[in-house]
Amino acid sequence: MVQDDALKRGQNRYSSHLSNSEIQRYAEERQILLQELEAEKQKLVDIFERAPAFMAILRGQNHIFEMVNSAYYQLVGHRDIIGKAVTEAIPEVEAQGFIAILDNVLATGQPFIGTEMKLELQRVPDGIIEDRYVNFVYEPLKNSQGERTGIVAHGYDVTDQVIARQKIEESEARLSFMADAMPQQVWTATPDGALDYVNQYAVNYFNRSAEEIVGEGWQKVIHPDDLAECIQLWTESLETGKPYQVFFRLRKSDNIYRWHLGRALPLMDEKKVLKWFGTNTDIDDQKKLERQKDDFIAIVSHELKTPVTSIKAFTQVLQNRFTRAGDEKSAVLLGKMDAQINKLTSLIGDLLDVTKIEGGQLQFNEAFFSFDELVDEVVEEIQRSTHKHTLEKQGTVKKTIYGDKDRIEQVIINFLTNAIKYSPHASKIIVKSSFEKDRVTLCVQDFGVGIPEEKQQRVFERFYRVSGNETIPGIGLGLYISAEIIRRQKGTIWVEGKPGQGSTFCFSLPASR
Ligand code: ADP
Repeated sequence: MVQDDALKRGQNRYSSHLSNSEIQRYAEERQILLQELEAEKQKLVDIFERAPAFMAILRGQNHIFEMVNSAYYQLVGHRDIIGKAVTEAIPEVEAQGFIAILDNVLATGQPFIGTEMKLELQRVPDGIIEDRYVNFVYEPLKNSQGERTGIVAHGYDVTDQVIARQKIEESEARLSFMADAMPQQVWTATPDGALDYVNQYAVNYFNRSAEEIVGEGWQKVIHPDDLAECIQLWTESLETGKPYQVFFRLRKSDNIYRWHLGRALPLMDEKKVLKWFGTNTDIDDQKKLERQKDDFIAIVSHELKTPVTSIKAFTQVLQNRFTRAGDEKSAVLLGKMDAQINKLTSLIGDLLDVTKIEGGQLQFNEAFFSFDELVDEVVEEIQRSTHKHTLEKQGTVKKTIYGDKDRIEQVIINFLTNAIKYSPHASKIIVKSSFEKDRVTLCVQDFGVGIPEEKQQRVFERFYRVSGNETIPGIGLGLYISAEIIRRQKGTIWVEGKPGQGSTFCFSLPASR
């Protein structure tokens, strides 16, 4: 309209000097110009309409809707708003302070930027009030004289993002509530191992802020003697992505070091670690109790050893006397007593060995010896003690090996006495020696109760006994000691078999060292 009037005025002003054909040409040009202008305007309207951002043009002091695009309708709901004031078209926003903001933009000319502002909208007539979140700008519109005649509002509906973030924040709050409630230090670390979270328990334990602990890491509070191992294991876990476990001492806020069990698990996607989740559990009290128990076992077994040795000596003296005096009945009874004393001596021996293992004092006297001869001796000796079972020897190795003969003998005796104990209804035990790839292997196979697969590794733990065998005497130390002996002799120990079919216990040792 504005351009049209100007053209008419120009025409009137110049028409008196122009020929008819010129006027005709001007009129045609004007027509083309107007069409182009209209096309441009339509393009702008189309862009305005299709824009993913919402837009609205408000005119005058009452903020009358002049134009809105479809994104705007999507935001506020499809209502009849063109030509109406905001207060009339979307009355619910007045109480939320938006009209005051519009008034202020118009009055001052200062644009307003809103970030994630909440809008409560009744998007469906008579429907519920919905919360929408918007990022938007109110910008003043000026006419050619620079007067502010309206406002353009444009922005984005960011409700989905805000709600998604709120959900994450809520679940994080729930997780950290859980982590804070745990009576352990809970932490997380980035894939490269940098600590990025510790729970409230850790804050209280060290009496330092979470930021301080996260910033400095654990190094400052780890006992200097344990630091190297911790770093080594942690580095390995970071490189391999394998779970981390360590026993170490941490300095509590009272400056006293206490034993902890540190554990961490990686959260992985298909290929890489996304985050490390870890705990440090104060196990100092348990450690102390364990130490007291170990000390008690050490003292008791040590104190028992001397009197039992004397009893054994006196029993043998008495047995000889009764035999010489012709009192065979008493001599037999004393022989039985001697056998029981041997059991007691072996029990005390096991307890003393465990004490030595725990204290790192298990000694080895190494020398060369014939492996076959040792096996023969032990099998003969054990065969003498059992009438029910036949020990069947298979194979020879014909090797001289280097190691502690008495300790290796102890392992074979343990295998054989167990094979007898745990196969009460069988009559055969196979003892098989073999040599392969510079290693000698000895296996003892029985046809007794067997061990479930999931428990097979556990039988080498201290005091571990497979449930169901309680009627068979034992305290669960023999295999623990055997495993330690074989490990220290650079060998390996294992068990195979199935419940009800029997077990095969084996060890292998390097033949030449
Ligand atoms: P103990 O025999 O004194 O209990 P060990 O350390 O020698 O202790 O053995 C640990 C456990 O392993 C036993 O309690 C038993 O449950 C199981 N075990 C050992 N040897 C055998 C075997 N030959 N057959 C079945 N179970 C066995």
